[in-house]
Amino acid sequence: MSLMTAEQYINSLRNLKRDIYILGEKVDNAVDHPMVRPSLNSVAKTYELAHDPQYQGLFTARSTLTGRPVNRFCHLHQNTGDLISKVKMQRVLGQKTGSCFQRCVGMDAFNAVDTVTFEMDRALGTTYNKRFRDYLAYVQDKDLVVDGAMTDPKGDRSLRPFELPDPDLYLHVVEKRSDGIVVKGAKAHQTGMLNSHEILVMPTVTMGQEDKDYAVCFAVPADAEGLIYIYGRQSCDTRKLEGGDIDVGNAKYGGHEALVIFENVFVPWDRVFMMGEHQFSGALVERFAGYHRQSYGGCKVGVGDVLIGAAASLADYNGCGRASHIRDKLIEMVHLNETLYACGIACSCEGKKMASGTYLIDLLLANVCKQNVTRFPYEIARLAEDIAGGIMVTMPSEKDYRNPEIGHFIDKYLCGVKGVPTEHRMRMLRLVENLTLGAAAVGYRTESLHGAGSPQAQRIMINRQADMDSKKKLARVIAGIDKE
Ligand code: SF4
Ligand code: FE
Repeated sequence: MSLMTAEQYINSLRNLKRDIYILGEKVDNAVDHPMVRPSLNSVAKTYELAHDPQYQGLFTARSTLTGRPVNRFCHLHQNTGDLISKVKMQRVLGQKTGSCFQRCVGMDAFNAVDTVTFEMDRALGTTYNKRFRDYLAYVQDKDLVVDGAMTDPKGDRSLRPFELPDPDLYLHVVEKRSDGIVVKGAKAHQTGMLNSHEILVMPTVTMGQEDKDYAVCFAVPADAEGLIYIYGRQSCDTRKLEGGDIDVGNAKYGGHEALVIFENVFVPWDRVFMMGEHQFSGALVERFAGYHRQSYGGCKVGVGDVLIGAAASLADYNGCGRASHIRDKLIEMVHLNETLYACGIACSCEGKKMASGTYLIDLLLANVCKQNVTRFPYEIARLAEDIAGGIMVTMPSEKDYRNPEIGHFIDKYLCGVKGVPTEHRMRMLRLVENLTLGAAAVGYRTESLHGAGSPQAQRIMINRQADMDSKKKLARVIAGIDKE
């Protein structure tokens, strides 16, 4: 089986026995939990569209490891066309789910780990790349969702991992055995964690010689012994427990994050892809982050399309769709959104083949892409809120609307233009609220800022990649100081 259906995927998660906590309670069945299910539906869309004749070309690829068709989320990019298709696929998914669909972290981790392990083997004589590719072939054949886990909790950020009074604040190796390693620590804000079959762990920063027990990369099944999952809260999350579908804004889809504790988890050697080779930790961090910064030029743009559509619809419902200032705001939103897409496509077009044969995006352009993502969705959201009007945050609840005593007042007084039911206006307002302030705002706003690295992380990379000396040289030549 190399392409699961959406239903097979959902059912496959039922077999995992995991320690999951949500709102202080231990949860046996996360699959059907009303706070988790919308996020699961978003991931399921990555399976559904791989079977849809309209999208098959975008969502599937031929495995270079097995020769079989695989979901693009499990694929190693073989050319710039693959890199471009990845961004296009992410835009489609953003458009169809209006949320984070979570599966990209695994895809970005596969491509980063593949390129780095190959180069590490060549330099140090290790055999990690073959191990990793055997693992990836297994993931491809089973069509699994893999959580790419990078971010450690860190504690006091001024201290290196080995200097911290609590050594567990960065995930590290606590025991080396003949059959594998034992690890301890945690990974924070893990996207789509409860919807994943596997976790692929990477270091979170460049490690030095003293930190070599922290320079570790490995994969474990999501139900490995010693893993504890603590679900992350989202703004307005308990609206999902209220039973209606208007107030959540996007009833079917969503995203989620979790804090994952690794309490002495055993990893057999065939799943270890770096252990102590700290010299290569920096490249792994840079490349994973680079791929994920490219990703945002697709996923956030797709969600942006939904938000722009919602704002334009509300303008129509309010009877001001033709007002010139509204049209201008919508144009500005499109301009910003397409600028992000242009960056996602550009860093893909400028991708280069690495020694392993896998293609890497242009790191400078990917970082510029993500730096723009830290800003533009905020402006798009601001304009959407401007167009939506204050009613977006003062509107009565769905329960009031359904109440026979008062619902008719809401229907009468919250109407817009003739021919548009008040309920449609309410639904659209709640969608904008969901994307700008509610549960999906995690993905569209704060994740745009901090996901794939906070703004300063991109500025460091932009500085590193900028090649300022060659720019100075250009200026010296033009100024007549240097010869060409
Ligand atoms: Fe994918 Fe975007 Fe979610 Fe990251 S934030 S997992 S790129 S949808
Ligand atoms: Fe993300």
